[in-house]
Amino acid sequence: MLTLANSFMGACFAGTARAALEMAIDYAKERVQGGVPIYKHQSVQSRIFKMFSRVEAARGLSRRVLAGNAANPPGNVQYSIASKTYCTQTAFDVASDALQIFGGNGLTKEYPIEKVMRDARASMIEDGCNEILGLVGAGRLFD
Ligand SMILES: Cc1cc2nc3c(=O)[nH]c(=O)nc-3n(C[C@H](O)[C@H](O)[C@H](O)COP(=O)(O)OP(=O)(O)OC[C@H]3O[C@@H](n4cnc5c(N)ncnc54)[C@H](O)[C@@H]3O)c2cc1C
Repeated sequence: MLTLANSFMGACFAGTARAALEMAIDYAKERVQGGVPIYKHQSVQSRIFKMFSRVEAARGLSRRVLAGNAANPPGNVQYSIASKTYCTQTAFDVASDALQIFGGNGLTKEYPIEKVMRDARASMIEDGCNEILGLVGAGRLFD
């Protein structure tokens, strides 16, 4: 159950991280500050590229774990836990950076990034708290 559920959580929240990145890119093209769209500011570009790198790392890990488990049923729980904990943490970190790009608007219900941020935070608790899952996964490494 945990092998299956945690691997799906990894994929879901790699997608959540990607959604947050895409929202931030769209908003950075639309919002004007300092006379230019904010994506023209280097600090915004730098933040967005770091987000992109983390999203791609999460996508790569979650896909590899899903494919590995499918090829070797019933799969290996430690890989699923690695995917779940890494991708949910990434979703939270990327959503937090995305919200920063939205500034104060990001905290309003006018923009869905505030919901993405709440969902990403919940994901670190649901399907097992990441800290506890880490202990279960660590146990498997010493079997
Ligand atoms: C959005 C969402 C959806 C959910 N969906 C489902 C669902 O569909 N089905 C279902 O059955 N459950 C579901 N849950 C429940 C979820 O599985 C639990 O919330 C989760 O396992 C954590 O349990 P808890 O909330 O009782 O926290 P607790 O176990 O009370 O933990 C609270 C805190 O104490 C820490 N802690 C706990 N035990 C230890 C320990 N031994 N050592 C050190 N620290 C510890 C935790 O890391 C955490 O920080 C959902 C939760 C959320 C948030």
